[in-house]
Amino acid sequence: MAEWRQRARLGDARCSKLAGMTTEPAFAELTTLLKRTHALGTVAELLGWDEQVNLPPGGAEQRAAQHAAVAEVHHAAASAGRIGALLGALEAGAGGLTPDERLVVAHARKDYERATKLPAEFVREKAAQSSRGYHAWVRAKAADDFASFVPVLEKNVELAKREAAYLGWSGREYDYMLDKHDPGLTTVAVDRLFGELKRELVPLVRAITASPTAGRAKAAETTLRGFPVEGQRAFLREVTELIGFDYERGRIDVSLHPFCSGTGSDVRMTTRFKVDEPLDSLFASIHETGHGLYEQGLPAAQAGTALGQHAGMAVHESQSRLWENQVARSRGFWRNVEPRLRALFPTQTAGLTGEELYLAVNLVEPTLVRVEADEVTYNLHIILRFEMEKKLFSGELAVRDLPAAWCAASREIVGLEPSTDRAGVLQDVHWSDGAFGYFPSYCLGNLLAAQLWYRALTLRPGLEEEFARGDFSWLLAWLRAEVHTQGRRFDALELARRVTGEELSPRAFVRYLRERYGALYVN
Ligand code: ZN
Repeated sequence: MAEWRQRARLGDARCSKLAGMTTEPAFAELTTLLKRTHALGTVAELLGWDEQVNLPPGGAEQRAAQHAAVAEVHHAAASAGRIGALLGALEAGAGGLTPDERLVVAHARKDYERATKLPAEFVREKAAQSSRGYHAWVRAKAADDFASFVPVLEKNVELAKREAAYLGWSGREYDYMLDKHDPGLTTVAVDRLFGELKRELVPLVRAITASPTAGRAKAAETTLRGFPVEGQRAFLREVTELIGFDYERGRIDVSLHPFCSGTGSDVRMTTRFKVDEPLDSLFASIHETGHGLYEQGLPAAQAGTALGQHAGMAVHESQSRLWENQVARSRGFWRNVEPRLRALFPTQTAGLTGEELYLAVNLVEPTLVRVEADEVTYNLHIILRFEMEKKLFSGELAVRDLPAAWCAASREIVGLEPSTDRAGVLQDVHWSDGAFGYFPSYCLGNLLAAQLWYRALTLRPGLEEEFARGDFSWLLAWLRAEVHTQGRRFDALELARRVTGEELSPRAFVRYLRERYGALYVN
């Protein structure tokens, strides 16, 4: 139970009078209002989940109207004058608050400022545009028609700039977008981290792809074909349950683009199935499970306050990537799951030795599509999107010129040039709902995951042996204690410092890639 409740029972100094109001009822009322706002936010999320999982194509406009209506109610709740009055009273009497209460008040103030500075009309317009944008992107991608998406994307950039201006970030719009997903992050800081990472990654990718093992890994992966969806579904359900996902408090469905939404006792994950790419749905599912484990591990009693909220997108992504990569591509993990995979798919796996299967799992192959990228080349895709977004927001690049700029940057950074926009600039969903500045969090999440992994190994050197026995409980309990139950106490940079004793940097990640992939491919 949280500190603020324990202290409430003691009846300490926090009951001092404040402008006619004591801190205790003021804090209780604030919590009630924050929880109500949170509940409305989860309704909006559920509409979004349903939109990507179930909605008939003809329902798009109706859903846009539903999104706009709920966004309006949510915004009214988040910007209610009563919250402002309570925050004012609590801040004036902050001396009587516990550290946890002060944390809740500080974050509530930040969220309140954000909500009150955005006009209701803007919020409504943005919500409707975001829903329309998603469907426009689906159509444009299917038809490989970037031109039809140009007006949507132009509008989204304009809305993002207006949002930044409302919140006082004029002239620093891209910094605002970065800070929105990961507080404290700036273009300059990301530039520095990505510069260092790119210097290390490019020669490593070159060494791996030039290795004779690369061909063997590709051949092994090519053997994995013809996996019926029902078998894949059963396998990933077992695996995700094994690592700790609680299906009493969550579910997994199918969508075009895998994602995880919801929180607490109702976490919604999605995946996709391809008969000839069984590892794609498996690793997408484990990735989303990492997000789901984080949401299931947040303190449920504090949902809606900073104590029960996640700490930003980079921390979220560190959880998904740690399970997807450090854990589920390890030898220990495969010693455990390989027999079950072979039992479910005896003919499909018959042609592969255990070592070949492990190589297929750790195939490194530059690809045009980010979500299909292996973990070695993955961050090159993020660096590419960061370069595009920076230029879009500085005005250096117009939306209509994006496809050509994308192709040139892809050739330079990833080493491949797409022949269609579907495999290039249109591949990702994010820009369709204005999620600019989001991609860098993916990369920072990878860096944090590697730092957390080495810290866990220092504390528990025999982790992989436990994985081989199908025991993931220590790692999950450690993440619960160090990350999940901390709520929003620490942002990504602070969490790295506190848990791993080091600043967030590419060092641990590069070490991890060298150890895992260097051993497989280069040495
Ligand atoms: Zn993710």
